[in-house]
Amino acid sequence: MVDRQIAHRGVHAPLVLDAMRNVPREAFLPPDLREFAYEDKPLPIEEGQTISQPYIVALMVEALLLEGGETVLEIGTGSGYAAAVVAKIAKHVYTIERYGQLAVKAAETLAAEGFDNVHVLHGDGTLGWPEHAPFDAIVVAAGGPRVPETLKQQLKIGGRLVIPVGAADRRTQELLRITRVAQDEFQTEELLDVRFVPLVGEEGWTPDRPDDQPLDSN
Ligand code: SAH
Repeated sequence: MVDRQIAHRGVHAPLVLDAMRNVPREAFLPPDLREFAYEDKPLPIEEGQTISQPYIVALMVEALLLEGGETVLEIGTGSGYAAAVVAKIAKHVYTIERYGQLAVKAAETLAAEGFDNVHVLHGDGTLGWPEHAPFDAIVVAAGGPRVPETLKQQLKIGGRLVIPVGAADRRTQELLRITRVAQDEFQTEELLDVRFVPLVGEEGWTPDRPDDQPLDSN
């Protein structure tokens, strides 16, 4: 899958291709979907969410411009798959998921697969994780209407934030890379058109649709 569907489509960073080769995607899928683990497609997981398409995971991780040894924040843990790919390259991965059930399950899978450098938090990722900031890189796996200011402020100088942003509707976005070039100076690059599940939170979309309600909230 990595050679045919990922390298072939233009992801070339050796660190990223190696990381993709070394994470068993099936371990992050519900048992009945494991046979589809190596098709290059997003697949459904619990709570109406998705495990991202491998090509998109590879592309987003490559866009973080990691060299190894970094501290990275991920918003939208989902299955934990993308966090695992980042964890093969970075030193520490902090990842936040708004559905408690997904956060618990992902933490269990990551532990079972031996990823002891990934830390999972149940909460609103649009507020970042101030205790572990600043980050070398932040990757957001859900699409919001704008770039959360809080996340920009949790980047190191030189740090990169990769995030799908689209204000027109909740399902289509443009993938952006924002680089903090100086304390108060940010550079934005547009990478490609993407479709992610909505980023729901204080600096994201409001949870006003039934399928955006976490089942475990009260
Ligand atoms: N990286 C995941 C993809 C998960 S899809 C994987 O590899 O499987 C995106 C996830 O973002 C969903 O699980 C969704 O619940 C979560 N999400 C949406 N808004 C969020 C927020 N404000 N904070 C944390 N997680 C959020």
